[in-house]
Amino acid sequence: MARTRYYTCLVCGKKFPEGQGIVIRRAGVELAFHSKACFTRFCKLFLERVEEKEFKRVARELMKEFEELQKQRMKQKII
Ligand SMILES: [Zn+2]
Repeated sequence: MARTRYYTCLVCGKKFPEGQGIVIRRAGVELAFHSKACFTRFCKLFLERVEEKEFKRVARELMKEFEELQKQRMKQKII
C-alpha cells in the first residue's frame, strides 16, 4: 500500500496528511494549507498583490458567475 503523503502548511508550517487541508496545484506550483484560516490568510495577501488588471478581470468574471448562480437559486425557490 502506498504511504500517505504529508504536506506542510506554507503559512504556519503544520504538517497534515493527504485528503485533509487544502492543496492547490497550478502551473507547476503547489500550495498547501492545513486549514481554511491559513488559506484565507494567504488568499488575502495574494489578492492584494496580484496584478491589478488581472485582478479586475477575474473578480468581475467571478462576480458575474456567482450572481447568475444566485439568480438560478432564487428561481428554484419560487417554483
Ligand atoms: Zn496552517
